[in-house]
Amino acid sequence: MQINNLYLENFRNYSSQYINFDPTCNVICGENAQGKTNLLEAIICLSTGKSPRTRGDQELTRFGNIGYQIQGHIFTRGRDFISKIESLSNRKKKIFVNKVSVKNFSELSQTLNTIFFCPEDLQLIKEGAAARRHFMDVSLCQLRPNYASALTEYSKLHEHKLRILRDQTDRPDLLQTLPDFNKRLAETGAVLIHYRARFARCLSEYAEITHQECSGGKEKLEILYKTVNTITDPFEKQRVLIPQLEEHLRKHNTTELSSRQCLSGPHKDDLEVLLNGLPARSFASQGQTRTAALSMKLAAREIHREIIGEYPVLLLDDVLSELDPKRQEFVLNRINGGQVFITCCENDRLNQLLKGKVLTVKNGVITE
Ligand code: ATP
Ligand code: MG
Repeated sequence: MQINNLYLENFRNYSSQYINFDPTCNVICGENAQGKTNLLEAIICLSTGKSPRTRGDQELTRFGNIGYQIQGHIFTRGRDFISKIESLSNRKKKIFVNKVSVKNFSELSQTLNTIFFCPEDLQLIKEGAAARRHFMDVSLCQLRPNYASALTEYSKLHEHKLRILRDQTDRPDLLQTLPDFNKRLAETGAVLIHYRARFARCLSEYAEITHQECSGGKEKLEILYKTVNTITDPFEKQRVLIPQLEEHLRKHNTTELSSRQCLSGPHKDDLEVLLNGLPARSFASQGQTRTAALSMKLAAREIHREIIGEYPVLLLDDVLSELDPKRQEFVLNRINGGQVFITCCENDRLNQLLKGKVLTVKNGVITE
């Protein structure tokens, strides 16, 4: 899978830019604040429909303009595709694949898959569960359309239930709808658990290998899927998972009403990351944290390859500069095989280490 070229119009600090890419490695070089991350962000938008940095589409439009456009030629499964996102003022975003308008973001993921790694991803190890759930969601939404639609439905149900719990003083009549909500939350929740359990198992296997190699065989990384505690085995069939989720919801009914919060369900799932048997969140050093987070991302890349049959596009933002030369070299050896975009500051030694194309960015203009 590769993106052969990209056209940006009024996206972030780019006014009108056409770029050809190398099918292997693209090094994006430039001083601070020139547009390196913005370029990666555009590629991610083309694969997920969303920016990893912001929720508001407004921010993506170049200052002083009213909309933006991203278009890319993608080669995957032996065929060429053209994906396009058009954001116009006061209108919803329009998405086209091969000039045909599509409604769903997941259609973009059928064409382009991406794995993004940036310095903020250290949160995967150090922060709360939300970062790790988001990590699973980003990959699974790209890989499994059923997961993407279950997640959308679950989030809507969750939001709606939360509103009912919060408004119970003004609208006590709505409380009678809660059993219906819980039933549907259990049904869609079971779909999430089904996919997450399998994803976490593969993730742990791949990440353990990568981390071990990267640490010179000294460290063992393990990842365990943590879900609702009435689930006896997350790999069970959904008809077994659903009543177990309902049981947990029933048990928490009174506390949910008094706290006015949704306390039960896979929206509280987590991945427990262990380093040599100890929780990485509390015990990992900075270097270990960085290596573990990168191992998780590279493991996700292997899962994508396993499922779709080819490597997704890997986007590494400002990552290697923080690793020592030994680990840098290890990473560079590891990322062979698929198309890679990697940003660096000018005069970085990456330029000499990597084969492929060097693109220089200066104030929103890219030159080869
Ligand atoms: P660094 O090395 O510091 O990470 P970078 O090259 O990755 O720098 P970007 O994050 O790509 O920098 O941002 C480049 C510039 O784009 C920033 O100065 C930012 O203020 C500007 N920028 C962000 N959004 C917009 C926008 N909507 N319109 C115009 N410029 C923008
Ligand atoms: Mg940047």
